[in-house]
Amino acid sequence: MNLVDSYGREIDYLRISITDHCNLKCYYCTPFSGRSHLERSEILTYEEMLNVARAAAAVGITKIRITGGEPLVRKGVVEFCRMLSDLDGLKSLALTTNGIYLEEMAEPLFKAGVRRINISLDTLRPERFEKITGYNWLPRVLAGIKRAEDIGMHPIKINAVVMRGINDDEIEELAALTLTRPYHVRFIELMPTSGSAHGDYETLFMPVEEFMKKIHQIERVQIEPTTDSCGPARLCRLPGAVGKIGFIAPISWHFCGSCNRLRLTADGKIKTCLFSQKEIDIKNALRTGATLNEIIDIFRQAVAEKPSGHHLNAKDHQNACSRAMRAIGG
Ligand code: SAM
Repeated sequence: MNLVDSYGREIDYLRISITDHCNLKCYYCTPFSGRSHLERSEILTYEEMLNVARAAAAVGITKIRITGGEPLVRKGVVEFCRMLSDLDGLKSLALTTNGIYLEEMAEPLFKAGVRRINISLDTLRPERFEKITGYNWLPRVLAGIKRAEDIGMHPIKINAVVMRGINDDEIEELAALTLTRPYHVRFIELMPTSGSAHGDYETLFMPVEEFMKKIHQIERVQIEPTTDSCGPARLCRLPGAVGKIGFIAPISWHFCGSCNRLRLTADGKIKTCLFSQKEIDIKNALRTGATLNEIIDIFRQAVAEKPSGHHLNAKDHQNACSRAMRAIGG
């Protein structure tokens, strides 16, 4: 069964944020003011999320990504992944993590069916890592990446958010990881979300065209056509590299025309677009005994209400996203 929205896009991808808690405090992601965490009772239980996933898979979602907050801080995540893997119709289960707990959790996650993993890593320099995240844990992330590779996870995607004056001088170094390792290293434009980056967004934002130029060999690499598994990234390869590099530019290159995703927040809202204020509540239905068909109806309603796109640019971004990325899951 296919889920097609009002603009003819096939929707087959659901991102589930299982918690808004995180063990890092990245200053472009963590809100600097206001209430910081959801109460436990506000967060969907795994059983509730599984009901949404079951409904989603029944109507055509084939790929689910677990995210957060930091998904590996929530107890029971491995068992949840195993239950998702068993869902009829689901072809791919992926997870996005900061990698802090990955060294010890890669194997159980792999056994639970997680094959595709995205790891956030904005810098390879320990002091800088601490400055960005608040903790001196770079070695843990690197050990986690290695463990995921050793255990056979594939592809391993390393996501770096590029920020002017913070890590834009490290693009070549990060890209060079692909010379010897089979990773996809993807450089991402900073997005305007509610949180501490908001105040100095215009200073930190660097457009993709500018940071692409920082990889000196870029003219000699082939841009590969995007395929399903690459999502919004435009991929290329350094000469002789085993891995790939990618560029994701939600501001400079809107990819709304091929957007295939919905998001479920930890507190039970379906978001139809990262940059839309609109959220469709599904928690109330889940907590008042809705049947599978009723949950499917809410899911279909969300698909029907998915907007054609966002209209953000680097200058006009006020109120772009009312919640911190940590609460939505990226
Ligand atoms: N804790 C996990 C992690 O670190 O990957 C998953 C959640 S995190 C919110 C998902 C992704 O969103 C991370 O790669 C993070 O770098 C990215 N992110 C957070 N705030 C962002 C922003 N303002 N612009 C671009 N990416 C952002």
